[in-house]
Amino acid sequence: MALTAPPTGSDLCTQCGLCCNGALFGFVPLTTAEQALARHRGHGARMPQPCEFLHNRTCGIYADGPPHVCSAFRCSLLRRFEAGDLALDDALVEVAEGHRLHDAARAELEPGTRLADVYRELAEGAAAQDGAFDMSKARRQVALIALMVYAQDHFRVPGNAADQQRTNFPG
Ligand code: SF4
Ligand code: SF4
Repeated sequence: MALTAPPTGSDLCTQCGLCCNGALFGFVPLTTAEQALARHRGHGARMPQPCEFLHNRTCGIYADGPPHVCSAFRCSLLRRFEAGDLALDDALVEVAEGHRLHDAARAELEPGTRLADVYRELAEGAAAQDGAFDMSKARRQVALIALMVYAQDHFRVPGNAADQQRTNFPG
């Protein structure tokens, strides 16, 4: 009887993609060498997310070598899974919830805007300062805050300065 290989981090990440689709990060920083590669030309030092190379939930250039930040990134969910603290099915439940919140937040976006734009609004405290209550803005922000809290609890790695530098989240 053939033995089934245990699931790997790749089995999790290829069904997730939350670190590529704009849910967690606003951009991917590129080194000078990466900026010179044909596939990254035109982005300057920051390749925006949602990433153009993401197909469904999988990186289309992973085999060719994604930016160094992408290769190095391992969210807390992946770390818990690889440490054996979480079964693949349970990890995928958390991924599904992350996608549900991400879809809900994106559904509130105005045409032509990105989640990063709304995160910036949050950071500036615009809702609290401009006096007039704006229901559309409130709906966008509630959806985004739900995603932010979930990502904080399930995906972010506390104290990782490199991640913090490019994160979508204020604070
Ligand atoms: S967010 Fe985590 S689990 Fe999802 S693709 Fe990125 S590293 Fe993998
Ligand atoms: S290059 Fe690949 S791994 Fe990096 S953000 Fe884009 S899709 Fe994700």
